[in-house]
Amino acid sequence: MKSIRLSLLASLFILAPSAHAQTPAEPAATPAPAPAAAPAPKPPMFETKKVEGTDNVYAFRYQNSQSIFVVTPAGVIATDPIGYGRPQAVETYVAEIRKITDKPIKYVVYSHHHFDHIAGGKPFKDAGATFVSHKRAKERLAVLKDPHTVLPDQTFTGKKHVIKLGGTTMELHYVGLNHSDSTVVMLLPKEKVLFAVDFLPVGQIPGRGMIDFYPLEAEDSIKRVLALDWQTLIPGHPGVGGRFGTKQDAQDQLTFLQDASAAVKVEAQAGKCWDPVEKEVKLPKYASWPGYEQGMPFVLRRYCGLWGRGT
Ligand SMILES: [Zn+2]
Repeated sequence: MKSIRLSLLASLFILAPSAHAQTPAEPAATPAPAPAAAPAPKPPMFETKKVEGTDNVYAFRYQNSQSIFVVTPAGVIATDPIGYGRPQAVETYVAEIRKITDKPIKYVVYSHHHFDHIAGGKPFKDAGATFVSHKRAKERLAVLKDPHTVLPDQTFTGKKHVIKLGGTTMELHYVGLNHSDSTVVMLLPKEKVLFAVDFLPVGQIPGRGMIDFYPLEAEDSIKRVLALDWQTLIPGHPGVGGRFGTKQDAQDQLTFLQDASAAVKVEAQAGKCWDPVEKEVKLPKYASWPGYEQGMPFVLRRYCGLWGRGT
């Protein structure tokens, strides 16, 4: 009898009307065991979404890679084909553009020379697009001769190249060495959108991207990105939750790299590279960031390369 009254009371608390609507329900007298956390619903294989605050900028995601395209009355500016090992991603990319516009695809801009972002561009080439990259990307691709990667048609040197199409301006900025030596960030100045690939993960610890990372120069590169006028950062890998970033995210990534660098520098100069550093150095401030466990060995090894070896 007593237990029935208790559970009745508990029900009353749980069903308490609006006066306490903002406060959490009281715990039941005999709480049920907590259910196991439901697994996050698996995101669909691909997704195209309009970037908030713009009329014509879209982010196209396929699995965990991401690209942007801009639709104008004179045609489309697309970016990284993201077709490494999956030509169907590029067919899908073109089909997604075709759902929005029948205007010609005029440009494909490469963020850098890595195949996981730029392989698979043939459907865009067949559609008549002009491929644009930094000169260094073409030099590297010309040596590698990857059968799945379209060589750029136009390249630029120097710090900036501007594409204008149908009233939209896209600025390509070369901000120096960072995750590669051929990285271009794409800025839409009117829309204040920045597409930056592989050296500015949003709210995450970097991982394999550290393998060929230029640690000192990357800090300057991020400072140059912070000095540009933008509000929305779209990364090349959407990561956990798939949110876009802000200047705060870029600043946080810079601070993370500076903290990691400073921590390893002390140990490296005490002769602790490689193994002791990789096993023992922790950055608890960042332990809650996604990718911490998997990414830290890459981060620590790269900074051991710098401070423990000199490269
Ligand atoms: Zn890359």
